[in-house]
Amino acid sequence: MAADDNDYYKILGVERNASQDDIKKAYRKFAMKWHPDRNPGDKSAEETFKKGSEAYEVLSDPAKRQRYDQFGPDGVKSQFGPGGFNFDRDFTHAADLNDILSQIFGSMGGGSRRRGGASFFDLFTGGMGGGEENPEGPQDGADLRYDLEIDLEEALFGATKKIDFQSDKECPDCHGSGAAAGTKRETCRQCGGSGYVTARQAFFQIRQPCPVCRGEGTIIRSPCRTCSGTGRVRDKAGISLHIPAGVETGTHLRVAGRGEGGVRGGRPGDLHVVIHVRENALFERNGDSLLVTVPIPPDVAALGGDVEVPTIDGVAKLRLAPGTQSGKVFRLRGKGCPLMNGRGYGDLLVRVQVEVPEWLSSAQKKALEAFRAAHEDRSYPQIKIYRDRMAAFAKAREDRVS
Ligand SMILES: [Zn+2]
Ligand SMILES: [Zn+2]
Repeated sequence: MAADDNDYYKILGVERNASQDDIKKAYRKFAMKWHPDRNPGDKSAEETFKKGSEAYEVLSDPAKRQRYDQFGPDGVKSQFGPGGFNFDRDFTHAADLNDILSQIFGSMGGGSRRRGGASFFDLFTGGMGGGEENPEGPQDGADLRYDLEIDLEEALFGATKKIDFQSDKECPDCHGSGAAAGTKRETCRQCGGSGYVTARQAFFQIRQPCPVCRGEGTIIRSPCRTCSGTGRVRDKAGISLHIPAGVETGTHLRVAGRGEGGVRGGRPGDLHVVIHVRENALFERNGDSLLVTVPIPPDVAALGGDVEVPTIDGVAKLRLAPGTQSGKVFRLRGKGCPLMNGRGYGDLLVRVQVEVPEWLSSAQKKALEAFRAAHEDRSYPQIKIYRDRMAAFAKAREDRVS
């Protein structure tokens, strides 16, 4: 390995005294160039990208950067054992470039967070912030998921639904401290409040969460009764959710700030509502298309006529030509599901199905018998084709069997 391979500054192309902002910008440029999404199948680009991500993880963290400046790459690696950092976790195999950019740069990366139907990835990038090391610092609340069943009509026309759920929030009696009224959390004597203890190994100091306070930095002598010292209570939460027209099963609706409450001033998480649309007796849905099956009497199929069809704009008349076959599908453009982006509608597919009468009056019977008596072969081209094929098969069979 060449010496430059481990020079994180050279890899990102920044000066040794570069600011955090410079490093971010340099990594952004680097990721745009070397991310595997931009270089599909290119192994050496992938290696370069890994190396740059490693450099970024170290240089973007002032503590790691300082150790790196002092001891070189071994100085940052040995702290976490021979494998170094768990790079895969953060960047290297992240789903796509935009996600990386928005994860690292927030709005700077642009784009992928604020779409109509939030993607699955949104779900998990939303609530991950706040993992600060300071045990007294604010901690963001977790995201919540709520599965909501709605009718097709609600999906087609939009709806407002009341949603009740349970959520964690800061205990109102101890304000999240977990200590009983009139008492306070006390500084942990073991770690002096830092939440960490250090052990020496060779000439490196290894920092570990304090075993006495479990990294909190403080301990509770008399726990708050309301929350048993956890600092959090279960709370009934409710919102009135507007469901836009066009949602389908699997659509995620993100309600910012309605997840679990934050701690010590941290931001609340988001509520993710996942839509499930119930089956409908009249319509089948396929993406933005709706399919309706319309039974018609045989005389309408043969003579032609109008049938009534339900559409999202009300009842429409569909004119059938004489000789319309059972099973024929008509496409009514723009009469299907509204699109989530508000730009128009899918199609309505109308399938006609001839219903053979299950009961006949004597007048109907007489009329049908007269109809049979007036039989014309050319009325039924399919029957003619069928008979011809049957005859051909019978002949072929005869030739082989006898
Ligand atoms: Zn409490
Ligand atoms: Zn401690």
